[in-house]
Amino acid sequence: MKPIGEVNPPARILLTPGPANVEPRVYRALLAPVLGHLDPDFLRIMDDVQVLTRRMFVTENRLTFPVSGTGSAGMETAMTNLLEPGDTALITVAGFFGERLADMARRTGAEVIALESRPGTPVDPQQAREAARGKKIKLIGVTHGETSTGALNDLDAFRQVTEECGGLLVVDAVATAGGVPLRVDAQRLDVCFTGSQKCLSAPPGLAPFTAGPRAEAVIGKRKTGVTSWYFDLTYIMKYWGQERTYHHTAPISMIYALREALRLVEEEGLEARWERHRRNAQALATGLEAMGMGLLVAPPHRMLTVTAVKIPAGVDDRKVRGRLMEEFNIEIAGGLGELKGKIWRVGLMGASSTQNNVLLLLAALEKCLLEEGIKLPPGAGVAAAVQAYQQAPVHGEPAQGEPAAAR
Ligand SMILES: *Cc1c(COP(=O)(O)O)cnc(C)c1O
Repeated sequence: MKPIGEVNPPARILLTPGPANVEPRVYRALLAPVLGHLDPDFLRIMDDVQVLTRRMFVTENRLTFPVSGTGSAGMETAMTNLLEPGDTALITVAGFFGERLADMARRTGAEVIALESRPGTPVDPQQAREAARGKKIKLIGVTHGETSTGALNDLDAFRQVTEECGGLLVVDAVATAGGVPLRVDAQRLDVCFTGSQKCLSAPPGLAPFTAGPRAEAVIGKRKTGVTSWYFDLTYIMKYWGQERTYHHTAPISMIYALREALRLVEEEGLEARWERHRRNAQALATGLEAMGMGLLVAPPHRMLTVTAVKIPAGVDDRKVRGRLMEEFNIEIAGGLGELKGKIWRVGLMGASSTQNNVLLLLAALEKCLLEEGIKLPPGAGVAAAVQAYQQAPVHGEPAQGEPAAAR
């Protein structure tokens, strides 16, 4: 029998739409001793995580905590707690993740009206207004950044429609929170959730979640029980709220990691972090366009944490991505569904959003494309990005002296 050796993965440069690279300080937090889930020292750590999560979402919501599970667990918590048979929900479907939210909503027994858009475009809020006419709408579910295409939906416009029809606004900010401007209270979002491994740059496994008073009232008035035991907020909040009674064993080490990741968000400052993501995404887009490549999403609708670039005709998607990984240690993502083979998706999230990564990717991609027989103006991508940075330097990037192999 061949022995299985100790796990020893390479330290990659993760330029996918999640997971993003993890900061050394977050890795160190994972090494801290595991405590019992009712240990007073752990309860204090939970309190810290709730405080830090509220600050990250810019909310005062009492019901704020990390759901045990990845971003999809946040989606499922929202849908299973808010919807029941007989309800009607409007869900934006700008791509793969909107479709996932609609699928979860349908499984609750609610009637779901999918508001679709062409790939690479946001959903038109007017579509929601028309679909809501003459109906009682329980909620509008909006994917803030649609990771499968790189398109950003306009939350404020959907807020307006939600107020006109009297429902709740539920926002999937899995790919945007911590990377793109988002203020839960000021934007009057009733429910919002994200994932630990995207712009927060912790490992995957937690879904920071927040629900406001209107959403709590809706949950309190349910006629039927929540069909999911694990995600039932009335149970979970007995552990995360005042009572501190056992529901399920919290993923202790991941809570430590999230706490450190949120501390890093706070140290950098939310606005500085949003600005860093914007500058790096802009330099990348400028560089790709200077290389003659087209971006899928028009500039005003780009989500900035994920950039979708069209694969030039005649270029083998898998071969280029394979070469980027083997030769440069970089992972980028391909397209999903009908966009498979047609686009690459470059994630610049959290610790992965750096000037170093942008310049390296542009240079590496140039070499890979040359090897595919594509004619390119030499160095055009890097030159254009350098110029973009000179006009708007990136402040607040993590210190270059930090050891992460990823940098
Ligand atoms: C990644 C992502 C999800 C799913 O998160 P998982 O952590 O993979 O479960 C949901 N919505 C959006 C917008 C995402 O980008």
